[in-house]
Amino acid sequence: MALTALDIYKLLPKTNCKDCGFPTCLAFAMQMAAGKAGIDKCPPASEEAKAALGAASAPPLPRIVVGTGDRAVTLGDEVVLFRHEKTFYHPTAIAISVSDALGDEALEERLRSISALSFERVGQILAVDMVAVRFDSGDPARFAKTASASLARCGKPLLLSGTCAALAAAIREVGASRPLLRPPPGETAAGAALAAAEKLPLAVSARGIEGLAAALAAARAAGATELVADPKPADAAVAVADSIFIRRLAIVHRAQEIAYPTAFDLGQGFPRPFEAACLLLSKYASLLVLDTADPAEIFPLLTLRQNLFTDPQRPIQVDPGIYPIGKISPSSPVLITTNFSLTYFTVRSDVEAAKTPAYLLIAECDGMSVLTAWAAGKFTSESIAALLAESGISGKVDHRTLILPGMVARLSGKIEELSQWRVLVGPQESSALPSYLRRLPPAAFVPVHG
Ligand code: SF4
Repeated sequence: MALTALDIYKLLPKTNCKDCGFPTCLAFAMQMAAGKAGIDKCPPASEEAKAALGAASAPPLPRIVVGTGDRAVTLGDEVVLFRHEKTFYHPTAIAISVSDALGDEALEERLRSISALSFERVGQILAVDMVAVRFDSGDPARFAKTASASLARCGKPLLLSGTCAALAAAIREVGASRPLLRPPPGETAAGAALAAAEKLPLAVSARGIEGLAAALAAARAAGATELVADPKPADAAVAVADSIFIRRLAIVHRAQEIAYPTAFDLGQGFPRPFEAACLLLSKYASLLVLDTADPAEIFPLLTLRQNLFTDPQRPIQVDPGIYPIGKISPSSPVLITTNFSLTYFTVRSDVEAAKTPAYLLIAECDGMSVLTAWAAGKFTSESIAALLAESGISGKVDHRTLILPGMVARLSGKIEELSQWRVLVGPQESSALPSYLRRLPPAAFVPVHG
């Protein structure tokens, strides 16, 4: 049963010393009750309080780490049900499956295609996170060899799905890489004992919430402590319902017996796996296993994931400043936009498509897009005039002509008044920039002298 803020408050020193960063002990207790602070942030707390509140201050969804080093994947460790309450910390991991029944050439090709699933979007690299090795061959030695090849070729953490005999064989080859073990439902207890002995995380599979709770209890009884819950849904609707149910039990009700990160295997004939993956990315899945390695399916999923797991209070931004595009010269056009990453990369690629070398002036707008920044008073005639004066752009070009985003055309007159720069109103949409730039007459950028 979760402790209330009042329960927690009774155990705190009640001195309001503020060492925790909160103004009062009660404010701190409320943060702890919400899972947003830990007792370790209260230095004066007694040993008794630390012992009693240790569990209460643990994240409602445990943190499970798969893999090691830079590429380790963290599952769970979330504290809120809705992103706007705070943020989501750990993006849903995506694992692509590999069958150990593939021949050497087909295996190599499969691993090559998984490694190639990496894309750049708005300055970030989006890639799949794990390789899921399936035991289809019936030969534990072959399973171990496939796991070893997958690790060596892709360098990504592994999910090993197989019988305990196959898992034991694979652990001898790749155990040090800290794979996630996934035995079949009938071998939960034996798999848990193996995971406990090897100190590895374990995915527990059982159909439905009640069956899953019982299987998780059996795994705990066998000594496994780092658990991932797989409710084995029959279709997307059940998967989403299970996922929401488990997350609500964890975050809202602190039901520790089922509060674990979730894994969903959307391969092996799962109906409409792409749609299921889209829904589960939005609704709490910690790990998805897919059979497809088709970039046309994976890239949209990674894009959706990137959007969902970007902190809404900290949009992806680029540094403000002057960005030269192409072989610029003193007569190159100067365009301006905001430092919202998506805006920057969109405008940049459209300018590149125009094949017109240009300077792109990026204004500090807290990562907001043009219209949002204008509405928030962060992209104004005054701030743009100040940027023209202070950025150093005047020393790079011999003209004084600025191309302004068409959406804020209304700022043009005041900018001209404040800056002595001439303003050309650009297109409303960045996609029209290539034709706009190509049609600009050279006379648009007349040098100034003196
Ligand atoms: Fe209270 Fe502890 Fe915070 Fe001090 S550090 S205000 S004692 S909760």
